[in-house]
Amino acid sequence: MDIAPPKIEIGKSKALYEQAQKSIPGGVNSPARAFKSVGGTPLFIESAQGAYMTDVDGNEYIDYVGSWGPMIFGHADSDVVHAVQDQATSSTSFGAPTRIEIDVAELVCDLVPSIESVRMVNSGTEATMSAVRVARGFTGRDKIIKFKGNYHGHGDFFLMEAGSGPLTHGTPNSPGVTAGNAEDTLLAEYNDVENVRNLVEAHDDNVACIIVEPIAGNMGCIPPEPGFLEGLREICDEHGVVLIFDEVMTGFRVAPGGAQERYGVTPDMTCLGKIIGGGLPVGAYGGKKEIMNHVSPVGPVYQAGTLSGNPLAMRAGYAVLSKIKETQDTLYDELEAYGAALEEGLADTLDRLGLDYYQTRVGAMGCLFFTEEKVVDQATAKSTDAEMYANYFHGLLDEGVYFAPSQFEAYFFGTEHAERELETTLEAQYDVLKRIH
Ligand SMILES: *Cc1c(COP(=O)(O)O)cnc(C)c1O
Repeated sequence: MDIAPPKIEIGKSKALYEQAQKSIPGGVNSPARAFKSVGGTPLFIESAQGAYMTDVDGNEYIDYVGSWGPMIFGHADSDVVHAVQDQATSSTSFGAPTRIEIDVAELVCDLVPSIESVRMVNSGTEATMSAVRVARGFTGRDKIIKFKGNYHGHGDFFLMEAGSGPLTHGTPNSPGVTAGNAEDTLLAEYNDVENVRNLVEAHDDNVACIIVEPIAGNMGCIPPEPGFLEGLREICDEHGVVLIFDEVMTGFRVAPGGAQERYGVTPDMTCLGKIIGGGLPVGAYGGKKEIMNHVSPVGPVYQAGTLSGNPLAMRAGYAVLSKIKETQDTLYDELEAYGAALEEGLADTLDRLGLDYYQTRVGAMGCLFFTEEKVVDQATAKSTDAEMYANYFHGLLDEGVYFAPSQFEAYFFGTEHAERELETTLEAQYDVLKRIH
């Protein structure tokens, strides 16, 4: 990819990136951080506060990544900081039950009513892997249905992609994933209910669950078309299939109760992550008691974790979730107002410059695609102009605005994004798009 060199000074990031690659694969502990799909040098971050991140060279950015979702109240939120500091002095882990785990579980069940019982884990990946195991144990069936372009973490049976394999059997898109794993994963087209119905009928009585991002957030941001989630619910009811909403990204972000509240469709199980830990490593899965009673030690489905429900992480999560509960009457309106202004301002710029684009947004997450087409699934997402996005991304970095380093990631913002950040962002977007289009 042909990327103009950055106008800002990033010498220290460059040096650290060189050094990091000697002891860490690719210099990063998660591939999305490596700027691979936009080119250039990943920025090493020194600190962050509110809506701003500062890199090791001292450049400041308005942050639209928010640690990939958790920072709904901004970085270094004082409630989170105090909770973590306070807990640390009473030890960081016991490996025995604590009161704070009940407090967080009760808050989760309260905010997301379809969750009657919930198990804490340490990441979104663990949540989805465990939920699928429980769905399989509960139904006694093997196959799962996942959607092309949906991401559920890096569990073996989720790493299947479209394109290279036949539709009904996934082809592993990572070495190390066995053919057996791939065979149990059936791939469906996002936003296509008929496709799912055909898959379920072709494998009748052996589909354990359908797992879906109720708003796709890992191929850019693609909202569900009207009737899509309702259709999945209907198919699951007809065929005794467990419907799992992977709300690791959308949970607490698009409504207090996540996408299921926003669209009024109730899953059997829900996976959570990101916001639930307030920036510490937490995931959770839960749902109907009838299903969750299959989890060890009540039931036979094994799932465990030395650091699960870790008190430091639970204190941070509690600080964020209790603030969401207290402020929910105004919180989501505030986020909506910022999002709408951002979306409209950008649309204005794009229209004025005569650019082809398709914008999506649900509350405090969204995405800009450079394309003439409506984007509804993986195929249409892949047909957009990723090089244009890369130029847009690097141009914005130069202007002090940090969007996701990939066309196939959503942007996020939180309550710390206000008037000043909006203005700076819209001006930067205008300047950059005018220059690169
Ligand atoms: C981020 C994400 C995951 C994986 O969570 P990790 O904490 O990175 O393991 C799973 N599902 C969705 C929808 C996500 O956005």
